[in-house]
Amino acid sequence: MAHARCEQCGNLTPPWDTIHCGSDDGSYQLLCTLCFNARIAESTGATDFENVRLDPIRMNDCSGESHQFHFQVRLLGDRVAMDAFELRGDIPAGYRFQLIGEYDDDVLVLLGRLVEKIRRALSVRHIDFRERQIIDSTVRGRIEWDESQDGHLPLVVVDGKEVSWNDLGRMLMSMEGWQFRLDIADPSDEL
Ligand SMILES: [Zn+2]
Repeated sequence: MAHARCEQCGNLTPPWDTIHCGSDDGSYQLLCTLCFNARIAESTGATDFENVRLDPIRMNDCSGESHQFHFQVRLLGDRVAMDAFELRGDIPAGYRFQLIGEYDDDVLVLLGRLVEKIRRALSVRHIDFRERQIIDSTVRGRIEWDESQDGHLPLVVVDGKEVSWNDLGRMLMSMEGWQFRLDIADPSDEL
């Protein structure tokens, strides 16, 4: 996907680092995350907010596979959302994590907490993708849009990999007769 120019600073910005920002007159502007945060900080008086861009980091999962995480920090009123995600091209894909903090929290402390959260998640595998089966009795993942299903069936992302609803169903059939529990949680919750 093409980079877009931030309508405030004019910098070419990848799509994952832009935000559509509504103005008072009802129009929308495409802003880079830094300009978006600066605007929110100005309008809410959040002068303590550290408006920084965090460098990507690389971490290994428990099977030795390397993952590069990009960060987006968004000021949302009196709270701050810190997202970590992998990219495929310019599109977030794979593992994705979110942490919610207060606007005046130390950004590096939030980053430390988010990295710990990533580390915990990368230390666990739920699916054996070669054998196409669930390793233990728990599967954690994320619900996503499946282009090929037109919104009728979800795509789930488990261990940072996409699993179609059909494939997940096939894996569950090795446990026919067992019980299960389906819990849905906010993107920032710990699973
Ligand atoms: Zn900008």
